[in-house]
Amino acid sequence: MKVVKFGGSSLANGEQFKKVIAIVTAQPERQAVITSAPGKRFSDDIKVTDLLITYAEQFLNYLDTKKIQEKIFDRYQEIAQTFELPTEQLTWLKKELQQLQERTYPSAEYLLAAFKAHGEYFNARLLTLILNHLKIKARFIDPREVGLLVSSDSNDATVLPVTYENLARLDYTDEKLIFPGFFGVTKEGEIATFSRGGSDITGAIVARGLNAELYENFTDVDAIYATDPRLVQDPYAVTKMTYREMRELSYAGFSVFHDEAIVPAIEGRVKINVKNTNHPERPGTMIIPYQEFTPITPITGISSAKHFSALYLHKFLLNKETGFTLKILNILYKYGISYEHMPSGIDDLTIIFDNSQLTEAKRKAVSRDIRAVIQPDELRWIDDYALIMVVGEGMINRIGIMKDVILAISDHNINIHMINQGSSEVSIMLGTKSADADKAVKYIYEAFFEQK
Ligand code: ASP
Repeated sequence: MKVVKFGGSSLANGEQFKKVIAIVTAQPERQAVITSAPGKRFSDDIKVTDLLITYAEQFLNYLDTKKIQEKIFDRYQEIAQTFELPTEQLTWLKKELQQLQERTYPSAEYLLAAFKAHGEYFNARLLTLILNHLKIKARFIDPREVGLLVSSDSNDATVLPVTYENLARLDYTDEKLIFPGFFGVTKEGEIATFSRGGSDITGAIVARGLNAELYENFTDVDAIYATDPRLVQDPYAVTKMTYREMRELSYAGFSVFHDEAIVPAIEGRVKINVKNTNHPERPGTMIIPYQEFTPITPITGISSAKHFSALYLHKFLLNKETGFTLKILNILYKYGISYEHMPSGIDDLTIIFDNSQLTEAKRKAVSRDIRAVIQPDELRWIDDYALIMVVGEGMINRIGIMKDVILAISDHNINIHMINQGSSEVSIMLGTKSADADKAVKYIYEAFFEQK
């Protein structure tokens, strides 16, 4: 069996639903279907998830929510009308949308999570109704009933391992199983969502739980590209890449996948095929274990992300001092800060952070404590810090890759803050100023994909 997941743009209106239904029914093996909420129909349209967030906020601020409810309902009604689904078949949706504000929630955060999750919940139920209306056997699977259990982080949950046992017990024959993406249930019985874009995570969880042979992830691009198409015109479309290449690229900005999304699929050794709902006949990109991969190019992809900053420390004989890093880590631990990387030299050390980990107050506290405990000769924050990932299974045992990467950027006078190679076999990580990152990616791409 295959698990097929459709993103928001693939389920944005009735015409897109038709494509989805054609894809799902084209192969009997495509049995488990994961839906996103209806996404944008045109560039300045609003995703249903965002409409639901507005609904939650208006409700929390005691504002009139009638208009926003109508707007949300209209999105589903428009889809239902394409299939001439009788209006009475949507009465439940209108009612449940209204009832969202009549329930009780443990906190405003859980309220927000429950409102948000209904974008996918309504869409999965609607798709099931439409399939049944078209005489296609389909069953809606409620994450709460099947036991898709998640941690109690209302809007940033992670899956609990028991979910896989629960999914493995699911009984089914030849009907399509329609799962809403993006949310699960906590041990306390509350709805909690994954972080934004999290329907991909549900897809990977279901693929692992049902022991699928393939996880097809349908979106609105033909393939995963070797770099961001906004930086390079018509970049190379990757036909195959490995799990770890995908992980490293999505870590630094590859927006195709949520960086934690593919982990359950990797754990279950389920291959992933990223495909285009608008051109399902095209092969898309296969993401596979490295044992099955033969690299054709030394580099598979280049990505960059700018949401970092770094703390630079200088102290003579730093490398001789026992417990130096331990002291720093204790300080970070004390303030609940996780760091990304910590390259070091004989007298210097840089700690790179994701900006989401820092507030001004935390920065000040960390600087103060480090000054007191470590007494560095120099302590300095570097704010505009970007990370560039150059990733490829093909670089293992190949000489000269680093030279080509460095030359590509130094030829254009771009200064490199940091180079990290060796901790991962399949990537080179570079730190640059944020303002230089896009250019650096472009020059590295040109050096590897355009001249050879
Ligand atoms: N609908 C959710 C969002 O917009 C989840 C998803 O589409 O994957 O973030």
